[in-house]
Amino acid sequence: MAGEEALRARREKLLGRNMSLFYEDPVHLVKGEGVWLWDADGKKYLDCYNNVPHVGHCHPRVVEAICRQASTLNTHTRYLHEGILDYVERLTATFDESLDTAILTCTGSEANDVALRMAQAVTGKTGVIATDFTYHGNTTAVSQLSTRMPPVGGYGGHVRHVPAPDAYRPLGGEGGAAFAAAWAAKVEEAIASLQESPFGFSALIIDPFFANEGFPDLPENFLVPAVAAVRRAGGLVICDEVQPGFGRTGTHMWGHQKAGIAPDVVTLGKPMGNGHPVGGVVANSETLNAFRKAFRYFNTFGGNPVSCAAALAVLDVLEDEKLQANALDVGAYARQGLQNLAEKHALIGNVRGSGLFFGAELVLDRAEKTPASDIATRVINGMRERGVLMGKLGIHQNATKIRPPMPFSKDNADLMLSTLDDVLGGL
Ligand code: PMP
Repeated sequence: MAGEEALRARREKLLGRNMSLFYEDPVHLVKGEGVWLWDADGKKYLDCYNNVPHVGHCHPRVVEAICRQASTLNTHTRYLHEGILDYVERLTATFDESLDTAILTCTGSEANDVALRMAQAVTGKTGVIATDFTYHGNTTAVSQLSTRMPPVGGYGGHVRHVPAPDAYRPLGGEGGAAFAAAWAAKVEEAIASLQESPFGFSALIIDPFFANEGFPDLPENFLVPAVAAVRRAGGLVICDEVQPGFGRTGTHMWGHQKAGIAPDVVTLGKPMGNGHPVGGVVANSETLNAFRKAFRYFNTFGGNPVSCAAALAVLDVLEDEKLQANALDVGAYARQGLQNLAEKHALIGNVRGSGLFFGAELVLDRAEKTPASDIATRVINGMRERGVLMGKLGIHQNATKIRPPMPFSKDNADLMLSTLDDVLGGL
């Protein structure tokens, strides 16, 4: 314990104050393997939180690919190299054929930054619409969109926020097509407002799974009317796939495919390199070439051979170990387990999600759906004490965030569920 306090003090001295740290009793991790993590005292944790080690912590094939390429060559992209070409070919093959080119970056924030400028290059406008409970990254440009970490000095006049969709408390009070129409009407209002402004309308940027917003179980084709409105107005649809991408939802490789929409630009990050910093932007060649012509973009580290080797190994493992199918199977099993717990614990108001991105919204009473945000914090800390790492998120910060590495098994789900049962029972 004294050691932990010294580490915290050193951290604050060297890295500054207000740097976020999970849990009342922070975890000091020293090792990872598959879905497991170990702390400095040798305690083992089941990782139900981390989506970056997508194919499992320290997957040997990814480690081997990184080591092999790092000991051969690592340079920027101003030389000819097959690595980036082999990767982009494999990556774009997983998209609709209109999305056939890519720019590689190091982070999801950079990818969204590029996507906004692509929309600007194509439309000549800068007005952007995002949801009012989103996060798209940390650059000056994209932090303008993110209501979860509002920018100092407020939002630029070019940003309009629409309500984050919440199927548990649907806009207008009704579900189904009425909910979709009500949301599309909000998007249309925002488009009109931007068209009347000096900025004009360039793009709607959304995570098609609305992960940070609380991963609502949206009605089928929910996004279709809003996307149609964007197209009518000559804007681009940007899908931020940093969270739902790479098969996490189980049903589809990409969140926009699950949502039944065809975006103009897709942005990628977190799981792409299994922890190696790789991000990217996928678009059709016309859009990408308009961007390159307007902005002459270069990224020193983006697309380097080591990053591409890591990212290619992730696609190989995903495919060979059938991890998308595993996400579908284990996710459905675990959600059913949460439903079963809901019969016992009135605190669980709503169980939702898809594949290995799911959770329960905790409420003080089911009729009023009053968010149990503080209790959610206690639950997350209680889970950590018992060796299961998860988080919380959503508009009311009362939904458990369960988003483990993709090799998560039914046995792992059972351990998570029995621990949660124990923690909820002990409240
Ligand atoms: N988009 C979404 C949806 C995210 O959740 C995040 C990170 N949490 C980002 C973009 C930013 O990615 P990065 O931290 O790699 O810049």
